[in-house]
Amino acid sequence: MTSKKILIVGGGASGLVAAISAARKGAEVVLIESQNRVGKKILATGNGRCNLSNITANRIHYHGENPKFMEGALSQVNVEETLRFFQLLGLETKVEEEGKVYPISDQGSSVLDLLRYEVEKLGVHQILGDPVTSLWKKDKQFVLETKSQARIRGDAVILATGGKSTPKLGSNGSGYDLGKSLGHLLTPVFPALVQIKWDHRSFRSLKGVKIQGSIALVSEGKILRKEMGEVLFTDYGVSGPPVLQVSRGVQECLQNNKVPWVVLDFFPQATEEKLYETLWMLVSLDGKKPFDFSLIGILNKKVIPVILKEIGINNMKKPCEEATDKDLRRLAKILKNCGLQSTGTLSWEDSQVTAGGIRTDEVHSKTLESKKIKGLYFAGEILDVDGDCGGFNLQWAWSSGIIAGEKAAE
Ligand SMILES: Cc1cc2nc3c(=O)[nH]c(=O)nc-3n(C[C@H](O)[C@H](O)[C@H](O)COP(=O)(O)OP(=O)(O)OC[C@H]3O[C@@H](n4cnc5c(N)ncnc54)[C@H](O)[C@@H]3O)c2cc1C
Repeated sequence: MTSKKILIVGGGASGLVAAISAARKGAEVVLIESQNRVGKKILATGNGRCNLSNITANRIHYHGENPKFMEGALSQVNVEETLRFFQLLGLETKVEEEGKVYPISDQGSSVLDLLRYEVEKLGVHQILGDPVTSLWKKDKQFVLETKSQARIRGDAVILATGGKSTPKLGSNGSGYDLGKSLGHLLTPVFPALVQIKWDHRSFRSLKGVKIQGSIALVSEGKILRKEMGEVLFTDYGVSGPPVLQVSRGVQECLQNNKVPWVVLDFFPQATEEKLYETLWMLVSLDGKKPFDFSLIGILNKKVIPVILKEIGINNMKKPCEEATDKDLRRLAKILKNCGLQSTGTLSWEDSQVTAGGIRTDEVHSKTLESKKIKGLYFAGEILDVDGDCGGFNLQWAWSSGIIAGEKAAE
């Protein structure tokens, strides 16, 4: 048992579990949250169902300048340990497609309510609606000041303020300034798990159309990432789970002065040759049928004119008997490889996670303590660690939060 006083800045996913693990070690814990209640973002996760973990969580699902960094915390508090932590709070979970873990209640509020109950039970002192505006160390003690000019002292501080994504839920990047004020450096931050933009007017008419396809992010002829699933066309570009998954690469390309291309495959299950044969079969069924109409059995109606225009077929109503081999070859090719240059992504308001953050080479991976300032710890998204879509980001918040809380209290 410890007699330390721990100050935790940020009452999101990582801050709440850090508060619990520090208080269980006997520390006096003060949790300071800028919003009027803790854990607002947890309620928004997984479309309200809170996809709290993923049973496949390992290094390949994480990004940052040193993706290996996450192993320090995840090897100590792995998925099994995390789910046990929640089970002991009273939360039962289930595993869905691609290893995604949800509460069996299908309600994110189950997760938050049980965390809040435990925080209160352990006597964590909560200060709500008062953002921390500055932080410094004097002698061996940390002092932080809040917007309302309260000054609070403690033996250790955990910065768990999140990144910059969805600022309306509290994380507005102010934690970076607190880290920087104590000498920490940041890698460039940019929105990730976010919708992709392009500037192709003709595709705007597809707004609202959904396809089960694949999307690849390509730059300089190299496929950077490819994902399958439901792609949703919008007025600015594309959205949907596979789009979010590849979006990180768009910003990376732009930052490195490379041109990002989004390449859509409307028929991921078929080869180009097979698709070409199907197209031949369709136009051969009835030579008098209008060419565009012959495609409605395999393609969304709104997609047909856009794609035909893209390959330069303006006389779309021509009878199928006039369709040439070249037409069908080009059509098969574009349906398998529809490349559109991206102009970027939507911004912080829409992104689910922040890529970049506090440099991980300045933090001990096993304890999450600063290498520069003894007693200063980091947890969650504030660090330069971001995960794929599918429960990996909350898993990182839980693992890093639990470890930071425990180590800070030791
Ligand atoms: C819409 C949406 C859906 C998502 N869905 C999923 C999902 O299903 N699965 C998944 O794994 N991940 C999901 N994520 C990502 C996940 O929610 C985050 O990665 C995770 O919450 C990060 O936890 P954190 O504790 O680091 O930061 P946050 O949860 O952002 O918490 C940071 C807290 O710090 C507070 N704060 C910030 N600055 C200050 C300050 N100066 N003083 C005091 N308090 C401060 C904020 O108000 C906030 O409450 C989603 C994100 C969004 C936006």
